[in-house]
Amino acid sequence: MALRRSYDVVVVGAGIMGLHTAYQLARRDRNLNVLVLEQGRSLGQGSTGYSTALLRCLYSLDGMVHAASDGLIVHQNWSEYTEISDPAGRLTPSPILWMTSETPETLEAKVARLRKFSHTPSVLSPQDIGTRFGLRTDDLEPHERFLCEEGTGYFDPTGALTDLKDACTRLGVQVVQNASVNQILTNETGTAAQGVWFNKSDGNNARANSSPPTPSSASSSSSSSHTDDSNPSAWLGKRRASTGETVHAGAVINAAGPWSMRLNVASGIPFPWRIEPTRVQVVYKKSLELTEEQLARIPCTADESNGIYFRPQLSSRQLLVGTILPEEESEVVVDPDECVDYVDQERETRYISGLLDRIPALAPRGAVTGFSAMYSVNLDDGHPVVGPHPSIANLFHAQGFTGHGFKIGPVVGSMLARDITNLSLPTFDATVDPAFFAVDRPPHRIARVSVLA
Ligand SMILES: Cc1cc2nc3c(=O)[nH]c(=O)nc-3n(C[C@H](O)[C@H](O)[C@H](O)COP(=O)(O)OP(=O)(O)OC[C@H]3O[C@@H](n4cnc5c(N)ncnc54)[C@H](O)[C@@H]3O)c2cc1C
Repeated sequence: MALRRSYDVVVVGAGIMGLHTAYQLARRDRNLNVLVLEQGRSLGQGSTGYSTALLRCLYSLDGMVHAASDGLIVHQNWSEYTEISDPAGRLTPSPILWMTSETPETLEAKVARLRKFSHTPSVLSPQDIGTRFGLRTDDLEPHERFLCEEGTGYFDPTGALTDLKDACTRLGVQVVQNASVNQILTNETGTAAQGVWFNKSDGNNARANSSPPTPSSASSSSSSSHTDDSNPSAWLGKRRASTGETVHAGAVINAAGPWSMRLNVASGIPFPWRIEPTRVQVVYKKSLELTEEQLARIPCTADESNGIYFRPQLSSRQLLVGTILPEEESEVVVDPDECVDYVDQERETRYISGLLDRIPALAPRGAVTGFSAMYSVNLDDGHPVVGPHPSIANLFHAQGFTGHGFKIGPVVGSMLARDITNLSLPTFDATVDPAFFAVDRPPHRIARVSVLA
């Protein structure tokens, strides 16, 4: 379909945030002209395609518990939300077990926080954990207790993107791939967004033009790290080499994931948060020695003493492992186009030994694969930044989701769509207070920026 000269809304980035937002706009007003521009040849090349997509609801702050709970409702009712009878994205039910040390008081506070949002968590003894899940617990004290979220699970992130793109297209949203936005354009005084300048990718953007790895095709290596190409004007210069197009927009949304800060800088947009693309490493271990039933019994688990989280990947008979150590999610990627895709050997060894330690039925043999991916870490308070720009009219942001964005994608889409249209919906609309995420909010008080936040 040919592009128009002017749109009501242009969304930069067809990750989970961009697509939920476009869909939530179209759900509210089918007469809106909405354009989504995606630099990748296919969907899922940013954070979303690599996401573990756990739908946990336990967070330190009520605002995140609230948003995650709203998001869970959407994921539990995905077919109704997308209005697709046989969607590609599916929720795999699984408890989420927190093997983290707690005092009776902190445990009670966490249970109360979840109950406040209508969840019904269990509190388990080491013996319960061994019996119910088959995990090793002899390193735990018999009197210790652990929180287990019930009624949740994990989702298929690439299926979600496929469904959302279909749902958007059905409602008349134009989603254009291979279209890389160079700049968000503002008026002469820089006080209002007016459109975007974009062009077709030149094919040099290796990550943006490759497909995210399927678990079995992912790579593992230990060669050197990313290159240094941090200068935004150099990046802009590279892209100016090809001809570009501009479209006018009534509103522009920066949902460019790990590239979002670079787009702000290239567009001369002041932004009050330090958000950095950050490398994270995930490993998959083939687990054929476990029966399908044994594998399905393993819960999504945060294992503090081994410094890992893990969950089953039933479709490929694998276990997925990642880190919960803050120091292992602090490697800033200077140029998101150049983030390496392999797993460091020592990281792989650490993850696998933690997994073998916790799951006695697992054998050391079995193919191990993995990948590096990026997410955007908000160094100031670890929480997302969503909403209108404080001083530039018609400009909106969805940035800084760290390892928590997938589950709250529908909520972010709702908040932005409501900001832009002033319309609410009777179903699948966010009930969380947008002030919790606002661009001009003060930083939340947190003990430490961490994936467990
Ligand atoms: C390994 C890993 C595990 C995770 N686990 C979880 C989890 O268990 N639970 C959870 O809730 N979240 C998890 N997350 C986080 C979650 O996946 C992200 O927060 C979320 O996907 C962010 O979505 P996004 O749309 O902001 O970014 P992205 O998915 O990165 O989308 C941004 C899109 O913008 C495009 N783009 C960028 N620049 C431009 C440009 N200039 N022009 C056009 N297009 C552009 C990119 O190509 C990309 O497709 C995980 C993330 C990773 C990497």
